[in-house]
Amino acid sequence: MATYITTDCINCGACEPECPNEAISEGEEIYLIDPELCTECVGFYDHEACQAVCPVECCLPDPKHVEVEKELLDRAVRLHAEDAALKQRAVANEFPSRFRK
Ligand code: SF4
Ligand code: SF4
Repeated sequence: MATYITTDCINCGACEPECPNEAISEGEEIYLIDPELCTECVGFYDHEACQAVCPVECCLPDPKHVEVEKELLDRAVRLHAEDAALKQRAVANEFPSRFRK
């Protein structure tokens, strides 16, 4: 389930630098998340980093884009092919994930 930003966004920009995948960018009206890059922070954090800093808590799971943990982890590993530590966490099945809290 990719995270998405609702129209409550006030364009503060706080979320953009927090994303481990650079999935967030400034859109024409509100900030946007690219679902092809969002991993719900699986592999890096046990929570969505964007939502954690959002002053209006408008970074929410997208019910139209449901994904399981494995898909999200695989995407993280693919996006960070050079990240040996992430790969090691994935192989050991010991990685931060919002699904494991
Ligand atoms: S949930 Fe995580 S990976 Fe997805 S956009 Fe937010 S910070 Fe980036
Ligand atoms: S932190 Fe929240 S309000 Fe600020 S730009 Fe990101 S989604 Fe919008």
